[in-house]
Amino acid sequence: MNSRRKEDRGKGKGERGQSKGESPAHSFPLSSNRSVLPFDPAEFTRLLLSWYGRAGRDLPWRQTRDPYRIWISEIMLQQTTVAAVIPYYKRFLQRFPSVQSLASAPLDDVITLWAGLGYYSRARNLHRTAGKIVKESGGIFPNSLDGLVALPGIGRSTAGAILAIAFDQPAPILDGNVRRVLVRLFAWMDDPRGRNAEKQLWAWAEVLTSRERPHDYSQAIMDLGATVCTPREPDCGICPVQRLCRACDRGLVAELPLPRKKARVPVRRQAALIIKKGQVLMLRQRPAEGFLGGLWELPFVDVPDDLSPDQVASRLLANLGLRGAPCKLCDVRHAYSHFKLELAVYKVDVESPDLVAEGDGLLWFGGEELTSLPVHGAHRKALEKLVS
Ligand code: SF4
Repeated sequence: MNSRRKEDRGKGKGERGQSKGESPAHSFPLSSNRSVLPFDPAEFTRLLLSWYGRAGRDLPWRQTRDPYRIWISEIMLQQTTVAAVIPYYKRFLQRFPSVQSLASAPLDDVITLWAGLGYYSRARNLHRTAGKIVKESGGIFPNSLDGLVALPGIGRSTAGAILAIAFDQPAPILDGNVRRVLVRLFAWMDDPRGRNAEKQLWAWAEVLTSRERPHDYSQAIMDLGATVCTPREPDCGICPVQRLCRACDRGLVAELPLPRKKARVPVRRQAALIIKKGQVLMLRQRPAEGFLGGLWELPFVDVPDDLSPDQVASRLLANLGLRGAPCKLCDVRHAYSHFKLELAVYKVDVESPDLVAEGDGLLWFGGEELTSLPVHGAHRKALEKLVS
């Protein structure tokens, strides 16, 4: 049952992507207006579910109806492929087998387990949401759209997936995979993320959602997008709904979805220091709230237009009260949802260890402690260059 295809799960969205803010919570129960469709939705459902019975994927989170586990998997799968998620999912549930255990854990433990999965706001929201569920409803998961979207990090599509998969409710979903299938199925010839698309795609998602087998339907349509109607080179020849597909009928498959109208992403230049004292390095922790909250990083500063990264690195060292000669180690490029980072990385062995004091939240780390610390992506790349 396993597919070998690489899948896209919400590719192309920013850190705030699929969760809050993507779309408002629309009316529920479902719209009954099916007359707008170019085909009979019952036929679509029949073809899709029959294919799912033969080709659906056997994934770890499909062996449960526990809303807690399904919620964890849905959050992990935002922005991340199934292959990457599986080991994290297993480790996470081993360490936090219940919403109570997650709620009572220190945030640092959650972030540490999340390290490497990216988009860390998801981990912080999981922790906050677990606390809310335990405190406000005795650990019982909400089973309504309104109850779910009121929780941190749960948007309409994630709520729909939890309602359908855990509670067998006919709630629509519109993650990256489903969005792509619908865009092609109906040959949507506009920005797939524009305001019009949002309204229309949700309407189609609603009207197609199976009332009889929502649990299977939601997973089937996600699988279709992940394994057949893939971003590049969809396999229309084996697609169960090919004869209903407008993009296929009109020869538009390769063109759809149309590219998004993107705003220009700004570039930020920064310089970071890897400060060594023997076998230990200096790192600091970001504030718990906000961008990359709670993660660890190298000391760094922005590079203004009128200074070179070399100058800025030397000043940063002096401002930390340290002496040494920073030498360039590497340049790291890293893309975030709202800016691109060009990071110049310098290495320096401090000459007078007796002058070094821990301050500004800076701490020395070495050995296993250093390798297990959740360091955010760009700075982790820099540390990997140090050992390579
Ligand atoms: S026929 Fe091709 S483009 Fe249409 S839904 Fe199937 S895989 Fe996607």
